[in-house]
Amino acid sequence: IDLGIASFLTDSNGTHIPNPRHARKAAARLEAAQRSLSRFPRCKAKDRTRNHQRAVEKVAALHGKVRRRRLDHAHKTALTLVRAHDFIAHEDLKIRNMSKAPAPKPDPTTPGVFLPNGAAAKAGLNRSIADAGWGVFLTILNAKAESAGREVMAVDPRNTSRTCPQCGHTAKENRPTQEKFHCVACGHQAHADEVGALNVLRAGLVRRNAHTA
Ligand SMILES: [Zn+2]
Repeated sequence: IDLGIASFLTDSNGTHIPNPRHARKAAARLEAAQRSLSRFPRCKAKDRTRNHQRAVEKVAALHGKVRRRRLDHAHKTALTLVRAHDFIAHEDLKIRNMSKAPAPKPDPTTPGVFLPNGAAAKAGLNRSIADAGWGVFLTILNAKAESAGREVMAVDPRNTSRTCPQCGHTAKENRPTQEKFHCVACGHQAHADEVGALNVLRAGLVRRNAHTA
């Protein structure tokens, strides 16, 4: 499987599981609530005005909503995968996050709120919501797979999105857009997320064979 933003998940058979619409809506509402909260001067909880306190509670309530919906979606998606497959390989998120853009700066006085850092703030929030979703999903996937006797393998995600599954050529030019994969060596074309999922599966199978050998 390949975890993404456009699709929540794509598998190596070409199935795309979209990000739930309610998650995007909740993210937009959360963003608006955080923006109004950021207008209040930062202070200790006991010094907050009533409106300030209300803004804090609104952000917390929306966080709860996002969390519950994320859990529900993760359970359903994981169950579908575990029912249909004996072996599931996914990207190792720890390695993946190390090679990504800098994380948003959390506000130390208010959990879940990020300090403004220009244009990065919005991208950072979307990113952190997506990251949290993948983390929760993989935890649930691993638990369900274990109780169903399925095998789950984390693999190094580096180059999985830029390696050609036909000829093995690795280049960032193989991926001209977010969606498109077009190998500059052999001309192979496919959906970029499906290529990612296929490479993750192959890397997972190599790891499994190395373990059992
Ligand atoms: Zn190729």
